[in-house]
Amino acid sequence: MKILVLNAGSSSQKSCLYALPSQNLPEHPPSPIWSANIDWTVAEGRGLLKVKTPLTKQEIQLESGDRLAGITKMLNTLVEGETKVLKDLSEIDIVGHRVVHGGSKYSEAVIITPPVKEAITNLIPLAPAHNPAHLEGINAIEQILGKVPQVAVFDTAFHAKIPPKAAVYPIPYQWYEQGIRRYGFHGISHKYCAQKAAEILGKPLKSLKIITCHLGNGASLAAIDGGIGINTTMGFTPLEGLMMGARSGSIDPAILIYLMREQGYTADQLNEMLNQESGFKGVSGISADLRAIISAMAEGNQRASLALEMYIHRLKYHLGGMLASLGGLDVLVFTAGIGENSALVREKACEGWDFLGLKLDTVKNNARPEDIDISTPDSAVRILVIHTEEDWAIAQECWHLRTTIE
Ligand code: ADP
Repeated sequence: MKILVLNAGSSSQKSCLYALPSQNLPEHPPSPIWSANIDWTVAEGRGLLKVKTPLTKQEIQLESGDRLAGITKMLNTLVEGETKVLKDLSEIDIVGHRVVHGGSKYSEAVIITPPVKEAITNLIPLAPAHNPAHLEGINAIEQILGKVPQVAVFDTAFHAKIPPKAAVYPIPYQWYEQGIRRYGFHGISHKYCAQKAAEILGKPLKSLKIITCHLGNGASLAAIDGGIGINTTMGFTPLEGLMMGARSGSIDPAILIYLMREQGYTADQLNEMLNQESGFKGVSGISADLRAIISAMAEGNQRASLALEMYIHRLKYHLGGMLASLGGLDVLVFTAGIGENSALVREKACEGWDFLGLKLDTVKNNARPEDIDISTPDSAVRILVIHTEEDWAIAQECWHLRTTIE
């Protein structure tokens, strides 16, 4: 079975193709047989397409900013040139899309039908940078591949069971009725990591209280009780919660009112400042990338040190919140760019929890761990580093749904 996965961002279009047996899903994530990425940020009105197969790599300049033309070009590399892995595009059995916002309606992946497309369209005001890009991808596949089944896997779906006490904001109730509530994001990753954690530990997911720390450019925590997401740090938008690369995370909302009233900031300016000029980048004045912050710290840069101290402080503050929601903790999971690669962040995040009996094995922590337990044998909490596999998680959802519609 050939499963194509599309992961559209505001300025990129990632895609990969899995070749899977029809009978059984492989136990471990297989490598895709083809993967591609269009970066639309290289120059105004142009894109750069990079394609990879296990045997070869190719780069193609896209001379127009037309998204449909870009996706068509990208899919053509499946059937022609050095990266050819299929005889014909009709060999693709099913296409899965990561969709950032599914609102409160979708708690599971679904086959895309006209009402599902309408729901994704209606949610554009809540995800203006992402949902239009997902619709472009869905429409492009309809045009290029015709009637192939398409699946939407929502980043919000895993959080759909968060109880009202954690989902409703303490603001006038009519705003909640209009849809202003905690949705939560990174759900595909949080769900994958919780399942993987249970598998690594050889315990039923139902028996575990887990906190997953998805720490990438965007970052969020999830409190997962028996496999169900019961709280998360991101909220109505992916801006709430932890300090991030260039996003502020939670701040006093009156700061915005003050800046609008006293300094004349517009909503668009504030949106940009909080989403693109804050976090590590805003505090350090150096970069949104933790690696640059750590290099600057080594040269004695005080604001870089402050940025990292704040990052850890806020991470632990929110860990405390998730811990309280769960009322206990069996497993702490680190994943995504920072969670998987920064031994320093993991070490600092694990300090000061002695009263929980949480103990990090610093040797294991420093040995580039992947999909393993880095706690000491006598730790009361298992600490795992898990390589998140969002594309594989989307492919699995497609595989399961495909067998139900056959
Ligand atoms: P995204 O949220 O865009 O998917 P990633 O999960 O790929 O991001 O995380 C990217 C971030 O991970 C980088 O900006 C950087 O801060 C961090 N990162 C990646 N590798 C390392 C490393 N070796 N040490 C510290 N931080 C790293």
